[in-house]
Amino acid sequence: MKTRFTALKGAPDVLPPETNLWGRIENAACEVFAAYGYDEIKTSIIEPAELFLRSIGASSDIVAKEMYSFTDKGGRSVSLRPEGTASVVRAYVEHNLSLRPAPQKFFYRGPMFRYERPQKGRQRQFYQIGAECFGTAHPGMDAELIVMLMAFLERAGLPALSLELNSIGCRNCRPAFKQRLREFFAPHLDGLCPDCQRRHEQNPLRILDCKVERCIAIRAGAPLISESLCAECREHFGALLGLLDAMKTPYTLNPHMVRGLDYYTRTVFEVTSGQLGAQNAVAAGGRYDLLVSEFGGPETPALGFAAGMERLSRLLSAAESLSMPRPEVFIASLGREAAAAALSTASALRARDKRVEVGWEGSLKSQLRRADKMGARYVVIIGEDELRSGSFKWKNLGTGESGETGAEEIFNLLS
Ligand code: ATP
Ligand code: MG
Repeated sequence: MKTRFTALKGAPDVLPPETNLWGRIENAACEVFAAYGYDEIKTSIIEPAELFLRSIGASSDIVAKEMYSFTDKGGRSVSLRPEGTASVVRAYVEHNLSLRPAPQKFFYRGPMFRYERPQKGRQRQFYQIGAECFGTAHPGMDAELIVMLMAFLERAGLPALSLELNSIGCRNCRPAFKQRLREFFAPHLDGLCPDCQRRHEQNPLRILDCKVERCIAIRAGAPLISESLCAECREHFGALLGLLDAMKTPYTLNPHMVRGLDYYTRTVFEVTSGQLGAQNAVAAGGRYDLLVSEFGGPETPALGFAAGMERLSRLLSAAESLSMPRPEVFIASLGREAAAAALSTASALRARDKRVEVGWEGSLKSQLRRADKMGARYVVIIGEDELRSGSFKWKNLGTGESGETGAEEIFNLLS
């Protein structure tokens, strides 16, 4: 019996013409990132499971519930990467990239894997494009990274997205804030969702990020981290806001934003769209000044962001209707003899970057029908008569104009 396979749930294929849109988004990123000094890094999609446990954190949703982890044939515990930062930091430490002049800047793109409940805007395999910068604690770097992200989104065709910012403090001021949160939530424990009851002990910061209605209601009166920041963190955040103001980059402060990963320090940010429904975050990131040293590297302040390709693509394809690229020339080839002439004419045009289709088989009528369906601009007919005379019939399918031309002159048609 034959079996018809389908893709795994939450791991959909991306087909043309959407893949072409993805290409445009990636090109926009590559151009903008290059101007900011970011070069591509390609890390492995599969890593030791421990890498994510030690960076993202055992109490995070990602590690607690969503990892694609398994034991390989060598008995190692491995995971498909749920995000990009941990791998880039591993590579930075492993290859001693701290020996290169600071700051070191990288961008990456590729699939990430999280066992989430598939729904609109949420998949189990999804693609991110992200950037990481190592080696400076200066708020100018936070501003530069955020400005770069907004410039990329604008170049990709998405100028009107909202930027939300917060500072979640550092190892000096955060412990006291966590304690204040614990005290605040203690009398409300019964009202919190089971996840938040667990978070209360493990990491009460996460309660601020919970999406459950009753937790949102309870936290309305919770203490704000902005009131607990140490002088250095307050200064850093103030300087960042000043730089964004100077750049006229609009933002909103969101004192409740904490992000779901353990490694963040100080600046965290999210870019959202009003047009995406519940999964409205397009990109997110922040500082992680302690992660490089936690991975055994020298103390190296660092920061980064990741943007979700599917959500970017959805926003863009809602704004313009996607269509398949059309051939500029469709060469109808009739009969065995015509094949070589059709192929060499097509190749000559293709060498000039023209998109050309050859209709290898079928009657002239059926080939013309195909040319029309594909939306070809011109049809050129090569049959036995044309081969003998060396003069090819052509037709502009848009204007109806037609004529005959020698093989050499076909190029002139397309100028
Ligand atoms: P969310 O709040 O939407 O769950 P997140 O905080 O988990 O996002 P990050 O881990 O920071 O997101 O990832 C950055 C971006 O990657 C998100 O803003 C989003 O665009 C995209 N992303 C994250 N998880 C998924 C997913 N399961 N499916 C599709 N895109 C995703
Ligand atoms: Mg998430």
